[in-house]
Amino acid sequence: MHDFTYRPQSPRTVFGAGALVHLEREIDLLGAQRALVLCTPGQVAQAQQVAERLGARAAGIFARAEMHVPIEAARAARDEARRLGADCAVAIGGGSTIGLGKAIALDSGLPILAIPTTYAGSEMTPIYGITEAGLKTTGRDARVMPRTVIYDPALTLPLPVPLSMTSGINAIAHAVEGLYAPDGNPIMDLMAEEGIRALARALPAIHQRADDMEARGDALYGAWLCGSVLGNVSVALHHKLCHTLGGSFKLPHAETHTVVLPHALAFNLPQVPAAAARIARALGGVAPHTVAGVLYDLAQSVGAPVALRDLGLREADLDRACELALTHQYPNPRPLEKAPLRALLQRAYEGQRP
Ligand code: NAD
Repeated sequence: MHDFTYRPQSPRTVFGAGALVHLEREIDLLGAQRALVLCTPGQVAQAQQVAERLGARAAGIFARAEMHVPIEAARAARDEARRLGADCAVAIGGGSTIGLGKAIALDSGLPILAIPTTYAGSEMTPIYGITEAGLKTTGRDARVMPRTVIYDPALTLPLPVPLSMTSGINAIAHAVEGLYAPDGNPIMDLMAEEGIRALARALPAIHQRADDMEARGDALYGAWLCGSVLGNVSVALHHKLCHTLGGSFKLPHAETHTVVLPHALAFNLPQVPAAAARIARALGGVAPHTVAGVLYDLAQSVGAPVALRDLGLREADLDRACELALTHQYPNPRPLEKAPLRALLQRAYEGQRP
């Protein structure tokens, strides 16, 4: 057993099919009276469902959440909260909407109640990102951690199957890197392994039948576990590559995680035998040296993308992506060198099975 320090950080969590019925109770427990409901333009119907449940305690709906949290949207939402006299925000949606809530909380201290409808895991982390003049700043700050999270699998039923698959693999990526994080601990290892197991079981079932409530519940359970891991430990090469590809080349978030994960894992695998053994168990008892290939097969079998070229990256961008990934490196179990990293990117670009 390695030495470790464990100080869990987690919001109050309410989980269950139909758990949205507990919303008013949870708002009461926050001591709040007027909630501003946040959503994307595409999820206004779900935001209205939330507002109707809140009745007089709904201050209004702000439906301008978007990818990467532009500072203008964050300022507008904060102003709207002030104008309406809101004393909390309810963010219903994926990482983009919850990210907007975090941006508001960062400088206003407004408590956030998150209702995640994807598997990205942002609701369990103190990590925020805000984009100003094309530049995304990220950081960790306890103030942005939602106070309460309501997980209701019923709200994930309309999540389109392709996004369900890539979002689920995004969550798996948090757990995979948590298993070899230098600040990991035995509890996070248990959560990461179980999170991978739940998602690897749920995604093929959802791919078969989008309204499989049991599988939706399993996937959201996995997302909770994997998000919790992300919130408590640091990340490595995989997340650095995805941040680089998303930030500098505008590649889509969950899809990029899906393509990169098998390659980043294959790159680190020789250095992380204990993580490989846990991932192998979570994937149904496969041989530990095959886990990267098995994750690639999982993505392919559920129709998810496996090549960066299919996400809009140009081959001419690979050299620059490699250079950027080598600057301001995240701690990684295997030291980063230019030639192997460039080769990793080439394989991910072409969609080769690792
Ligand atoms: P998203 O929030 O951008 O959502 C993608 C689209 O799916 C949106 O149009 C949304 O309205 C729609 N959608 C979401 N749930 C739906 C549902 N149940 N039914 C129908 N449509 C639905 O996608 P995401 O992958 O959840 O989040 C990605 C963003 O989150 C990125 O910007 C990423 O950086 C951030 N993120 C942050 C953290 C963190 O810890 N801070 C963790 C993970 C992701």
